[in-house]
Amino acid sequence: MKSTKPTSHESNAQDKPWHTFNTQTVMSELQATPSGLTQDQVAERQQTYGKNIYEVQEHSSFLKRLAAQVHNLLIYVLLVTSLITLLIGHYLDAAVISAVVILNVFIGLYQEGKAEKSLLAIKKMLSPKAQVRRAGQLQTVDATELVPGDLILVASGDNLAADVRFISAVNLQIDESALTGESVPVSKTTSPVDKEAALGDRFCMGYAGTLVSQGQGRAIVVRTAMRTEMGRIGRMLGSVESTQTPLVQTMAVFSRWLTFAILTFAALLFGYGYGLIGLSAVETFMAVVGLAVAAIPEGLPAILTITLAIGVQRMASRRAVIRRLPAVETLGAVTVICSDKTGTLTRNEMTVQAVITAGNALSVSGTGYAPAGEATDDQEALVHFNFTGNIQDHTAQPIELLALVCALCNDSSLSQDKAGLWQLSGDPTEGAMLTLAMKLGIDLPSIHEASPRVAAVPFESDHRYMATAHACSDANGSHIILVKGAPEKLITMAANQYGADATDAALEAEYWHQAIETQAKLGRRVLGFAFKRMPGAVTQENIGQEVKDLTFLGIAGIIDPPRQEAIESVDMCRKAGIRVKMITGDHAITATAIANELGIGDGKSALIGAEIEKMSDQQLKDVVQSIDVFARASPEHKIRLVKALQAHQEVVAMTGDGVNDAPALKQADIGIAMGLKGTEAAKQAAEIVLADDNFASIVSAVEEGRTVYDNLKKTIAFLLPINGGESMAIAAAILLGASLPITPLQILWVNMVSAVGLAMVLAFEPPEPDIMNRMPRDRHEPLLSRFLMWRILFVSGLFLIGIFGVYHATLAQGGSIHEARTMAVNALVSMEVFYLFSVRYLKSKSFTWVGVKGTPRVLVAVGSVILLQIGFTYLP
Ligand code: ATP
Repeated sequence: MKSTKPTSHESNAQDKPWHTFNTQTVMSELQATPSGLTQDQVAERQQTYGKNIYEVQEHSSFLKRLAAQVHNLLIYVLLVTSLITLLIGHYLDAAVISAVVILNVFIGLYQEGKAEKSLLAIKKMLSPKAQVRRAGQLQTVDATELVPGDLILVASGDNLAADVRFISAVNLQIDESALTGESVPVSKTTSPVDKEAALGDRFCMGYAGTLVSQGQGRAIVVRTAMRTEMGRIGRMLGSVESTQTPLVQTMAVFSRWLTFAILTFAALLFGYGYGLIGLSAVETFMAVVGLAVAAIPEGLPAILTITLAIGVQRMASRRAVIRRLPAVETLGAVTVICSDKTGTLTRNEMTVQAVITAGNALSVSGTGYAPAGEATDDQEALVHFNFTGNIQDHTAQPIELLALVCALCNDSSLSQDKAGLWQLSGDPTEGAMLTLAMKLGIDLPSIHEASPRVAAVPFESDHRYMATAHACSDANGSHIILVKGAPEKLITMAANQYGADATDAALEAEYWHQAIETQAKLGRRVLGFAFKRMPGAVTQENIGQEVKDLTFLGIAGIIDPPRQEAIESVDMCRKAGIRVKMITGDHAITATAIANELGIGDGKSALIGAEIEKMSDQQLKDVVQSIDVFARASPEHKIRLVKALQAHQEVVAMTGDGVNDAPALKQADIGIAMGLKGTEAAKQAAEIVLADDNFASIVSAVEEGRTVYDNLKKTIAFLLPINGGESMAIAAAILLGASLPITPLQILWVNMVSAVGLAMVLAFEPPEPDIMNRMPRDRHEPLLSRFLMWRILFVSGLFLIGIFGVYHATLAQGGSIHEARTMAVNALVSMEVFYLFSVRYLKSKSFTWVGVKGTPRVLVAVGSVILLQIGFTYLP
């Protein structure tokens, strides 16, 4: 018989004291190589270790969930009622009330299951990704696919998806508070530590669920899934919080109070009927039960929950994933959307179109990342060379050195897929640099081999440049530092420039600023390049201090066209009374040019980060309403902008992707993280994650948010008058000492079957045609507005008249009391159906052809209710 027990290698592989091993040992233990595992190894290990999934979510037992459903004031009231009716011998009533209880509980269970399922599906959409090197290729995979031995790249903002051992670390700091409770980020290195070192002191290890707050590194995965430290503790990573929304909470409190009020009123009425006017106890009791059953809106909480769940699903299908339920409601009240530019308003498909060096200006043709296209100079001569890879070449032309910076000061990679299309892994700005280098004739693999990287300063949006150091292939051990970044920044860090004659020359700052402005005015993103020759060695320790006194090489102008759908969405926002503000790290002129194309900011120039810094909070508050474009802004400016807008009572939605954006996302009323390029840190801070990073999806979410709120309002406006009409009818009958026009059973039937069935339709109502042509709702507007209260009372009154009128008319025509009651119920249900059509449109007229025709759902619901009603009336 084949044993299924794992071999000792397999079972122990993840339990070794990885923090005590040096990097070589770690790699050999796991048969890891610098080019990563092969696909076969990955497949085999996925068999052995399974998926990297954290399944700690406990499934509560059926009984527990059942108990949770029964634990509800309304159910208690109904249970007690049914018990008493049973005791006084009204068996049929007791049976029907019990049936209603059972129905209610099962509907609740069913809905809960559905809501849970949709949340689970959404959780899947949020599943984190990891950058892994396999078979020599850098690829982005689902974090669940990681196996021990995988070589992963981590960068600031990443949430580690497994326990790892670092084999390189650049400025790497990790926030391990999720695991250790220690809030100060820990600096990581590659040296082994003592066997006894506590978790927080294992500086060469990284743990699943912790957050990279700065820097970059490479690491070998050592433990996955439940064998990680976090898995052992059993805490969930990145969950969707299923809190209730403010509205549902308010309604829950409202219905509790309503129940109490009704019980009190019922008791008083019982005293009045039995004590004062001398009705029989049983008769009065049954009447009072009828009142309680009539007045309590049994179906309301369930329908509100369904409406929200449907809203969440609709938003997900429009690429906006809700992480916190209250966001669904707040979305409908948004008055300002602050959006990033790159990738959200623009396509994030970067292509270099121009390169300017001292004495030369090149135009570059081609689109996308394919190296198809060519560079020509101002004489229209082709520029193409075979750079030898000798980076200390003192005769190299500026453009050659610039191409070298593009190729080497770069963390992205390009590869061709099976169909021959070029795919980028990494940052689009950097991808564009690789394409440019290839168009200029650089062979990337041989350049990389000839000039290995020895140290790096990773790009961060705070300092806006990236630098790498490389060893030269000469005998003196000289090094070279290559830098790319925001050009104004590099100019301030430069001591001179590289002249057309391949010698250092004085820096012509004015010339460069002119060139930058010309590029920016064309809406191009501008990147600068510089380098520095180092006589001695550069190490990770000293590179930070050495990135100064650079030799400036030139600039590149990159296009990143606006998204067509973003232009349309900005226009939609204007009609919907929502202001759109662009907050970007890009150059002011580029930002203004793109904003113009998008229709943001009425051509006014941008406010830049440096100016924001000089302003007090009050000054910022004074100008924030009149400016729509903010450029060269860092994450710290974002949070001040949100606060300034909130000081004007604006309801602010703010997008973000970086780890430093998290505070601003938290501060905003709606934090929106990018699903594709966003870091885990940003996603965790956000209320909403955009699956496609697209501005248009934000606007769709707002539209859905408005629709959900409308539908909630319609549901309430529909259900409450039915309860009102019924209870008024019963109360009136008791007060007048007359017989009940409808019995408790009939009321239960109406409330549970026809009212709920019809109200359910409202949860699916499509947006009203003018929904994005009205101003945002005032967030503090009470749900039960004066108009709505009046409407509820008025319609209740109409129902009361209808019920009594038909009841007495039937009696007057000689009908029996049973016939009269049946007629009254049918009248009530018919009025409900008419009222449903009226309540479907809050703002526009209901009696249009479209309104009367309704949606298929409305017609199905109405048809079913009519059938049920016929059954109710004619079946014995
Ligand atoms: P947004 O905030 O709208 O997404 P952005 O992407 O332009 O705008 P950042 O990513 O902060 O903002 O970039 C700011 C500037 O830094 C860019 O204009 C560019 O000059 C420079 N830059 C961007 N990416 C890199 C990079 N990978 N390496 C070096 N410099 C870069």
